[in-house]
Amino acid sequence: MKALVPETRMNTLVDGFGRKHTYLRISVTDKCNLRCFYCMPLEGIVWKRREELLDFEEIVRVADIFVRKGIDKIRLTGGEPLMRRDLHLLVEMLSKLEGLNTIAMTTNATLLAENAQRLKDAGITQLNISIDSFKQDRFQTLTGRDDLQRVMRGIEEAQRVGFSQIKLNVVAIAGVNEDEIIDFVDYVKDTRMNVRFIEFMPFRDNDWNVERVLTYAEMLKMIGEKFQLVPIETEPSAVAKDFSIVGHSGTVSFITSMSESFCSTCNRIRLTADGSIKSCLFYPAEVSLRDRIRAGATDADIEEMIMYSLGQKPEAHPPAEEIAAEHNRSMIEIGG
Ligand code: SF4
Repeated sequence: MKALVPETRMNTLVDGFGRKHTYLRISVTDKCNLRCFYCMPLEGIVWKRREELLDFEEIVRVADIFVRKGIDKIRLTGGEPLMRRDLHLLVEMLSKLEGLNTIAMTTNATLLAENAQRLKDAGITQLNISIDSFKQDRFQTLTGRDDLQRVMRGIEEAQRVGFSQIKLNVVAIAGVNEDEIIDFVDYVKDTRMNVRFIEFMPFRDNDWNVERVLTYAEMLKMIGEKFQLVPIETEPSAVAKDFSIVGHSGTVSFITSMSESFCSTCNRIRLTADGSIKSCLFYPAEVSLRDRIRAGATDADIEEMIMYSLGQKPEAHPPAEEIAAEHNRSMIEIGG
């Protein structure tokens, strides 16, 4: 990875509420080899055809424009990003972008053991691994696949390869996996990993209801009864509330978008696998770049569409019930 570039460029990715955007999440595919019920609608989705997805050159071109306007961190997501063949080649291309300081990825780790080394060599430094249960049968019920052992091997290999940051993303759902919260905290105890408990969020057809949301306050109480939690200072735009635990090297965090939203400091914008800009995770409106790009749009045209999308960005997400009623993309088609 090239040296960090002193921050000379002006960040012009500012929305109508003065929020500077420095973090671009790029979904590289809508395909996944798991079927997590809170992400993939029960009836499934109509997969995009290959030609409907941005190719690597198109992704890098759009990413370059974003980086020149102030983005310094890119996260690759899916579906499952490792379902996209030769993903490490895209990482290599992105790692050449001047001004991009961090390339991260979120994965379900089923294909990680065999890819970890070359992803790290290509330029990925930060890894988020989605895992919601250590119980074989529950994992199979939640994901529709008997792949827990592949995921555990992926986590072990990621640690062996030595990514600078590994986080375990656990979607905490009342009545489903709250009895494993302490197990996850114990699992990272003697590691450098962080476990993040994510409040269950409503997406299209994901069986969400408010009773199933295990809130930050409930989890904090649960963990606090067993461990001594010490808050960790974080950047204003950080989505997670971080804590260290006395006697543990691993840390714990909470993503509280349902009980304590963090929209006022949002620095994130998204590019979907089929080339649309989503200024906000829960805001259905999008700006499609793909067809304009293929029709010969200039960089200036693309910049204009990016700024138009930011101009539409809402101040905050609506209440959860309203989000649940919205006709937004499903989680798997956005990439979180
Ligand atoms: S809901 Fe939208 S505005 Fe709020 S933090 Fe998420 S992406 Fe940002």
